Amino acid sequence: MAVWGAPQPAHITFHALYSLQHRGQESAGIAVCGRDGKMERHAAMGLVPNVFDAETLDALDAVYDSAPGSAIGHNRYSTTGSSEQENTQPFVGYTAGGAVALAHNGNIVNAKRLRHELEGDGRVFTSTTDTEVVLQLLARANTEPDALAWTLSQLEGAFSLVFLFSDRVELARDPYGWRPLVLGRFPDGGWVGASETVALDAIGAEFVREVEPGEIVTIDDSGLASRRFDEPVTPAHCVFEHVYFASPASRVFGSTVQLVRERLGERIAEENPVDADLVTPMPDSGRSAATGYARVSGLPYREAIIPNRYVGRTFIKPTTGERAAAVRLKLNVVAEIVEGQRIVVVDDSIVRGTTTRLKMAQLRKAGAKEIHLRISCPPIHHPCYFGVDFPDRKELIATDRTTQEIAALLGVDSVAYLSIEGLHEVVGTPEVPGDHYCDACFSGRYPITIEGELRKDALTKHC
Ligand code: SF4
Repeated sequence: MAVWGAPQPAHITFHALYSLQHRGQESAGIAVCGRDGKMERHAAMGLVPNVFDAETLDALDAVYDSAPGSAIGHNRYSTTGSSEQENTQPFVGYTAGGAVALAHNGNIVNAKRLRHELEGDGRVFTSTTDTEVVLQLLARANTEPDALAWTLSQLEGAFSLVFLFSDRVELARDPYGWRPLVLGRFPDGGWVGASETVALDAIGAEFVREVEPGEIVTIDDSGLASRRFDEPVTPAHCVFEHVYFASPASRVFGSTVQLVRERLGERIAEENPVDADLVTPMPDSGRSAATGYARVSGLPYREAIIPNRYVGRTFIKPTTGERAAAVRLKLNVVAEIVEGQRIVVVDDSIVRGTTTRLKMAQLRKAGAKEIHLRISCPPIHHPCYFGVDFPDRKELIATDRTTQEIAALLGVDSVAYLSIEGLHEVVGTPEVPGDHYCDACFSGRYPITIEGELRKDALTKHC
């Protein structure tokens, strides 16, 4: 998240980060930089409203003394590096080219090799994230004519990045465009870069366009400029953004997420109809698809599983224990709706199946006669190396199991997943065809070669 040329940029960034909380719940941070190169940062473990208060935001904005200023911010969801204070972002560094802060969404797959090379050059790291590699490369690139473009050209994998310098903000996106990054503008001046359009809505900015894959956008006193750091390739947008990750209120890769999810639900109803009495969503992320399923099947839509909206997303909690505790707190079944009924439960995805198994047991206990689970994406069989933290293959429920075996494990009468062809047909548009999406976690077809096994702790100290 980045803001340029707006009064109280830290306050604005705070509101934008709040609207993007679904993208990461482990830590949050904001950095500002005065024209004298004095960088200020506040970052801590926890949710956005717990990390910041009026005092911390006022202190950050004081750098600009009421004049328009700039800021970048970050919510962390860890894919490389543990969930701890030393890995909070934005990262701040002081290079020969001046002070710089950066924030990263994605996962850099050649980070381990790059880090070993940099360590071999005598560079010292203070964190275990792939993002710090970018900062160190940038510091080393000062003799290059375009240090940032050179730095980005060394990276492989998924990166939507925002950089803050004393005199400019720069936004950049990897050539495959795995993660979203959009550009927005305030009606009375000032620019915004954000992972999703929902953040623009939250702060009253208007959508201008996406940052293109392989593009660097520079925003400074002279306005906006664009340059490329790499040749165009066939994009590989993360299809899981539409399935699960992004806010339904956002437009991602040119399509509104809510509408895509409804169409995914319609498609799974077409592919896998079932004789039943009602359709119910697994809240909250199955809701949009369940709407679509009900529309096509003609079955009544009922909310039988009620979420506690004050408990966070279970999938992105870092440990199994935390996830299970959150599930128990999070969902309750309405027995009067399910008793004696044949129920279609629609969910967007199943990863380990922990949440699903607990909930299916509760539905049975409440008297459900039949339970048919319909999943609006294909089975997840493979790891993601591009910014989604799926567990090891052996922990994925779909690994080496048939749908009948998965149904037995979950305690339901049937399970059906959306086909990969159906997924591509639903997300594809004339502007962004279905084959411009990554589906590697479903298909195992990785758009780039992966260097050896990549683990979350690949950059732990003393590696
Ligand atoms: S592997 Fe799956 S989750 Fe990862 S970027 Fe590709 S589609 Fe998205």
